[in-house]
Amino acid sequence: MIDRGCISLTSDCTLRCTYCHFDKHHAKSCYKDMDISSFRNIMFSILEYTNIHETTFKIGLVGAGEPLLRFDLINQAIVFARKYDAANRLSFYTISNGVLLTNEMLIFFHKNKDLIALNFSVDGPEYIHDANRRFSDGTGSYQYVMQSIRKYEDLFSCTPIVNAVVHKLTIEHQTDVLDYFEHNLPSVCFSRIFDMNESLLSITNEEFENFMRLASQRNGLKLRQYLISPAKYDCTMYGRLCGVGRTNIFFIGNDIFPCARFVGQSQHRLGSNSDRLDTIEEVMHKRFPPCPDGKCWYDSLVKGVAK
Ligand code: SF4
Ligand code: SF4
Repeated sequence: MIDRGCISLTSDCTLRCTYCHFDKHHAKSCYKDMDISSFRNIMFSILEYTNIHETTFKIGLVGAGEPLLRFDLINQAIVFARKYDAANRLSFYTISNGVLLTNEMLIFFHKNKDLIALNFSVDGPEYIHDANRRFSDGTGSYQYVMQSIRKYEDLFSCTPIVNAVVHKLTIEHQTDVLDYFEHNLPSVCFSRIFDMNESLLSITNEEFENFMRLASQRNGLKLRQYLISPAKYDCTMYGRLCGVGRTNIFFIGNDIFPCARFVGQSQHRLGSNSDRLDTIEEVMHKRFPPCPDGKCWYDSLVKGVAK
């Protein structure tokens, strides 16, 4: 059963992070911004699927760029859900780099916090974050994201969930990084850097697992998507089981792929966003038999790397 999907709202971004998967691996210009009618098609198709199968569906309004650049679509998603999702089956989240957040947006997220979570990308203390999360002129974005987080904390009276990419520098400074999150941003989802094999930033699965073991020993951390029992199918990059062929899909432009790493590889396209999700699910089961627990479909079967 498909119960989660990401919708890429835009391929534009305010930052040029050194490890950006989409900047490094795909011609972003292949994918234009999502238009409103395609977005509505996707929403109706997801809603139809959830009603037929009486299932919930978690929608990530994230993808190849900064989602707040398409705040209009985020707003549309919530208007849509309030109007049509009578059974409350849909829920949403987005992950922002924090650069563009206005007071008006923040008030919107607060007002609709029952339906959508606003998460931020923070890699750790300033020197870790700014090592990679930079503007095109090379300056770091830490001060921007922290300014947004402070405003969030003032309005929501709690710290937000943050996503942190774990790479070589993180591992080299792991005590410092874990101290930082424990004392500042304890609700954190760590994800392993990927597709940077040639880079000094890359780490092995074992290094990531060791880091996560240390993180799980920190009582002050509320780790997201890791070591939570029972384990759910989502993505091994978050320390979970691979959801490809089981639970996940990824919408970008007019295309649907098994997950973000397959984007741009037409041979792995599952269909278009005008297809019914039942049809997409059939194609997915036929072409992507689930990989064994602990394996990443993309690494194991596309690249032939046994991780
Ligand atoms: S904020 Fe996200 S989409 Fe933008 S450059 Fe960084 S990693 Fe890529
Ligand atoms: S194929 Fe790999 S990157 Fe994609 S969802 Fe599965 S584990 Fe994650």
